[in-house]
Amino acid sequence: MAESYDVVIIGSGPGGYVCGIRCGQLGLKALVVEKEALGGVCLNVGCIPSKALIHASKLFHKARNGAHMGIVAGEMSVDLDGMIGWKAGIVGKLTKGVGTLLKANKTKVRMGTGKLVGPGRVAITDSAGETVEVGAKHVVLATGSSPIQIPSLAFDGETIVDSTGALAPSSLPGHLAVIGGGVIGMELGEVYARLGCKVTVIEALDRVLAVFDKDVVRPLQMKHRKLGIEHKVSTKVVGADRLDEGQVKLRYEDGKGAGELVVDRVLVAVGRRPNTAGLGLETVGLQPDARGFIAVDAQRKTTVDGVWAIGDIVAGPMLAHKASKEAEVCAEAIAGKASAMDVAAIPNVVYTDPEIATVGPSLAELKAGDRKLKIGKFPFGALGRAMSADATEGFARVVGDAETGEVLAVHIVGAEASELVAEAGLALEMSADLEDVALTVHAHPTMAESLMEAAKAALGEAIHAVNR
Ligand code: NAD
Repeated sequence: MAESYDVVIIGSGPGGYVCGIRCGQLGLKALVVEKEALGGVCLNVGCIPSKALIHASKLFHKARNGAHMGIVAGEMSVDLDGMIGWKAGIVGKLTKGVGTLLKANKTKVRMGTGKLVGPGRVAITDSAGETVEVGAKHVVLATGSSPIQIPSLAFDGETIVDSTGALAPSSLPGHLAVIGGGVIGMELGEVYARLGCKVTVIEALDRVLAVFDKDVVRPLQMKHRKLGIEHKVSTKVVGADRLDEGQVKLRYEDGKGAGELVVDRVLVAVGRRPNTAGLGLETVGLQPDARGFIAVDAQRKTTVDGVWAIGDIVAGPMLAHKASKEAEVCAEAIAGKASAMDVAAIPNVVYTDPEIATVGPSLAELKAGDRKLKIGKFPFGALGRAMSADATEGFARVVGDAETGEVLAVHIVGAEASELVAEAGLALEMSADLEDVALTVHAHPTMAESLMEAAKAALGEAIHAVNR
């Protein structure tokens, strides 16, 4: 065997690379194995590049539509290569930073495809086909997830794309169909609409972003109507034909019957599945469930000694920050620390316009439970800062336990929701009461005042809204 390690981590996304850094900090001899690029989906073709294009397209759209604020933009256009190049620069800096951090923590990196070949043994095959085998006291599986394909719409990287293809277009389509009104469909559909494309979202359920409360999604639906994004809900694509002109004819069925839609490009965003095939799990006696997920305990240990799993391949939301937290827990557990995944709140953020950000259960879920609730809602339209930022859509809602006062959930839709939710997460993690949030002095004028006012509203004491 070429080398031996305390920990070999397969995958270098926000699960794997964080695990590598934490192992290094804890004095464990660790190796991170990566087959494509350091940083995984999140840094290379997910969270970071999508946020760059969301920001750039928002700037473009805002400037173009700023006449009511006295901004006269004149003729504006998009230099697509320039925008994609700017995004690629950010990705390059961040992925380089990951390499630097791993090195600084004395964790090694080997590029190649890793797989288990027996207890404590990992084979790594590089792009030239060379394989080396390394020894590992512990193996952490952090291989992430891949987009689900619809059989009649196989990805070709040009006309029928997944999120990776949608983040690196060489041209803008006249008409884009987005299949799946989930997080990716909403975030990237908006990017294309703001850059001037016609966008049609096809969603199987009766509304987009169905995991959130209806009132939380409503401001987004209204904004989409203004932007010209059509939501075809309760609609299923049943087939597709490629046309000679490079277009695609989608055949769909909705409540009214069958229909067709001819578009220039299709983004398929109908969910992701865990990457657990071909990992050699059987060589150590590990069996994923029918959907490919691996069962783990609170420390992210699998049922097999010395094998751990984190991120999108285990239960829970497929979110980078959840994977990173699991990575720290798992590294600490391997180092013998009493660490366990015991978090009160994992924020859920959608980077749309307006943004959606929540912690804790939805209001519908809480109402279905046994607890009596105190609910406070504060509209962004009543916030000076929101008005002066031309961002009055949306609201913040704080939900507390009527008997104990404990904050149970916070739901925000509006500008900066992704940042505001950090305070809400801390409130849940610290078991804060409605009063703790209501009595904390918040700077004026800020969007964060909405949380203080919503908590006050739950207590019947809002200052800038009429208490009902
Ligand atoms: P998703 O689960 O968020 O949404 C998929 C949507 O597609 C659902 O609304 C579903 O009803 C619909 N759908 C499924 N099959 C369909 C079909 N045949 N026809 C029409 N609609 C269909 O999945 P996603 O948007 O692909 O995102 C994948 C994962 O990536 C998610 O788990 C998400 O957590 C993660 N992600 C998170 C962020 C973020 O945190 N901001 C951003 C992007 C992706």
